[in-house]
Amino acid sequence: MNLAPIDDLTEALRSAHPELEAVYDVAAPERVFLVGGAVRDLLLRRERTDIDLVVIGDAATLATALGAEVVEHERFATAKLRLDGHEVDIATAREEVYERPGALPTVVPAATIEADLGRRDFTINAMALPLRGEQRLIDPLDGHPDLEGGLLRVLHRRSFVDDPTRALRAARYAARFGFALEEKTETLLRDADLATVSADRRNIELLRLAAEPEAVRGFGLLAEWGLIALREGGIELASRVSELLATPPWRDFAPRDRVGMQAALGPTGGEEELATAHPQRPSLAVELASRRDPVELVLARALGAEWLDRYLTEWRAVRLEIDGADLLAAGVPQGHAIGRGLKEALIRKLDGEIAGREQELEAALAAARWAAG
Ligand code: ATP
Repeated sequence: MNLAPIDDLTEALRSAHPELEAVYDVAAPERVFLVGGAVRDLLLRRERTDIDLVVIGDAATLATALGAEVVEHERFATAKLRLDGHEVDIATAREEVYERPGALPTVVPAATIEADLGRRDFTINAMALPLRGEQRLIDPLDGHPDLEGGLLRVLHRRSFVDDPTRALRAARYAARFGFALEEKTETLLRDADLATVSADRRNIELLRLAAEPEAVRGFGLLAEWGLIALREGGIELASRVSELLATPPWRDFAPRDRVGMQAALGPTGGEEELATAHPQRPSLAVELASRRDPVELVLARALGAEWLDRYLTEWRAVRLEIDGADLLAAGVPQGHAIGRGLKEALIRKLDGEIAGREQELEAALAAARWAAG
């Protein structure tokens, strides 16, 4: 990996994130640091929109000085703010201390940035850059050489036991950057047990993976590492939905993360029924497809339901020129007959049997009168 020179990082940060000027104005030297993915991406010369800052001492004071609303998060202040449209997260430096071996850690405020970096997931995410003070890359865990070598390395051997979602995060970074797992990390990761994590936390990381351009590769890795079971044909399906969502008419029709995750992992839903259906008339297609979750529609199309293209581009937008008021005016009594009449007219219009206002009214009146008995 050809990284940006360390000496240029402060300048690179200033030019990539002019929104931070407000922070420089109020930050105390050696107290406020750029951390995590933001430092990594600066070295990789990759643009990003969100920034993480860590404050030694009191994050609330900095956040308040910047006009942010502070969330008292358990015992540690955190704040999220928008500066010129960019999201900035501010957190109090913290570390995990183990009162005895094997006990759950207690989280306490960290007195140094190095201590805060020590609780992170991978070395490439455990570097910091002081916003003010002596300009240098703070890299106590040797993230820089790992970034250069394209390696994901955990900070200690209990990392995945402490937090198995890190294994999912590894897939995200491996897929996005084309990085490899360092050997010991790979052994530890293959032993990770996702069953010890709540479904919510697991899904948050899986959805983040599914939102990535290289998500399919990431799901493939997770399966190869033995961490997740793919849906049958999941990789092919995930590739196909990814293509569909990138081209009209399906572009952005459904959220990429949910569709991608369901394609790769399941569970299967109503898409199977749609994919095996062969509606012979447009009205039947509308009957089948309307009111479905867009996720299901994309999956069904990816499974081969080509008729959904016309549903999407033509049929779902078909509306009558007449409405209930026209039927009331023609003498149909208020009640279910109105709905029945309009529905019948729409079916016949969709199927090309009628066209124009007059024929719609005629068809609707016939059906409404029949329904009214
Ligand atoms: P992205 O580039 O996708 O925005 P990121 O690298 O910024 O991702 P976040 O999930 O936003 O990652 O987290 C910010 C930082 O917090 C990470 O870079 C990492 O240092 C740390 N971190 C996040 N989740 C964990 C975790 N489960 N365990 C340890 N450290 C974590």
